[in-house]
Amino acid sequence: MLAIAIVGAGLSGLALAGRLLESHRDIAVFEARSRCGGRILSPSPAGAGFAVDLGPTWVWPAQQPRITALAGRLGLELFRQWDLGHSLYQNDANTTPMVFTDTETHADARRIKGGCGQLVAGLVQGLPDEMLHMHHQLLRLTDCGTYVELEFKTGQGLAHYQAQQVVLAVPPRLLAGSVVFEPALAPNLLQLMQGTPTWMAGHAKAMLVYKDAFWRRQGYSGNAWLHYPGTVLAELYDACTAQGEASALFGFFGLPAALRASHRDGLEAWAVQQTVRLFGTEAASPLQVIIQDWSAEPFTATEDDLTPPTSHPVYGHRPLCLDHWQDKLYFCGTETAQAHGGYLEGALEASERVFAALALPT
Ligand SMILES: Cc1cc2nc3c(=O)[nH]c(=O)nc-3n(C[C@H](O)[C@H](O)[C@H](O)COP(=O)(O)OP(=O)(O)OC[C@H]3O[C@@H](n4cnc5c(N)ncnc54)[C@H](O)[C@@H]3O)c2cc1C
Repeated sequence: MLAIAIVGAGLSGLALAGRLLESHRDIAVFEARSRCGGRILSPSPAGAGFAVDLGPTWVWPAQQPRITALAGRLGLELFRQWDLGHSLYQNDANTTPMVFTDTETHADARRIKGGCGQLVAGLVQGLPDEMLHMHHQLLRLTDCGTYVELEFKTGQGLAHYQAQQVVLAVPPRLLAGSVVFEPALAPNLLQLMQGTPTWMAGHAKAMLVYKDAFWRRQGYSGNAWLHYPGTVLAELYDACTAQGEASALFGFFGLPAALRASHRDGLEAWAVQQTVRLFGTEAASPLQVIIQDWSAEPFTATEDDLTPPTSHPVYGHRPLCLDHWQDKLYFCGTETAQAHGGYLEGALEASERVFAALALPT
């Protein structure tokens, strides 16, 4: 019997596992995907030659002590988002973009040298291999009185584990739609879980890798905002490495998820065409275009996430911060954080809250 089963190897689950390991508890982490990190994804695609952030990009050290401390503890270097030069704004497809200068657009925002994936790599390095169970998708949780039974779908069929306490470091909306709870959760709790949007789950990024940062040469920052119906990309930013030895622009798609899904094969070309309209013909020949559509990821997004919220949702609802099944079941993950819900900081805040609760004598 496990003392604690953590489900989800995103930032919150991994950070919690690292903290619990300090007290040598018998714990295990179960992850549905073949990789750790969840919404953090910073691969080094062949040809790109450097890590590209396809999930989170920025941290804000002035307001986010936990993620800043974690980066420091892992020896990671932070650097400023590139904002120097002219930025572009376009609110009509038929007009020329407006040029303006704001070298403080990202103000306190910092990037992590080597990509946000360095956070995941650092946390995983601190965990024993046998603690991590990949390809374990939680299907069912049963309250058996003094323990909880967990049922997983694995590559080899179903697997069952028992744990004294279970922490669900998975977005609540995802859990509500894909995990059977026995006994069933209270209808109002289930409704709250379904109504909690998973932050950024409906979004997609395009990363355009170039042989050099021609936009910087031309006096542009790389920042561009496109606010008109039908725009392919809605926001673009510079994504070069810290020292500028590798060059890239990234954009958040403006096209809705359904349209992205039905026109998947055309997205690269459309993203390039739009970048050419903004920055000229030098943008026409990227070395590589990488598209990451989070709305198509079953372990991040549900149908309800396909239309993203128009403003930052309220997170950290009290029922998601309490224990359930008489101290045997906890919710973790950034959507359960009260102050920085949705952000990396929130994922750490949630794991801190759960750590403190688990450490309480029962
Ligand atoms: C495009 C994008 C841009 C972003 N930009 C920023 C940014 O600039 N700054 C910032 O602070 N934050 C940003 N975020 C948000 C940030 O990524 C999240 O706050 C953080 O990664 C959440 O971590 P988490 O552990 O709470 O959840 P997740 O990372 O979602 O982890 C949940 C884990 O649970 C696993 N899982 C799901 N279902 C099951 C199941 N049934 N069984 C087992 N495992 C399961 C998943 O595979 C995943 O690994 C961005 C996110 C995206 C997608």
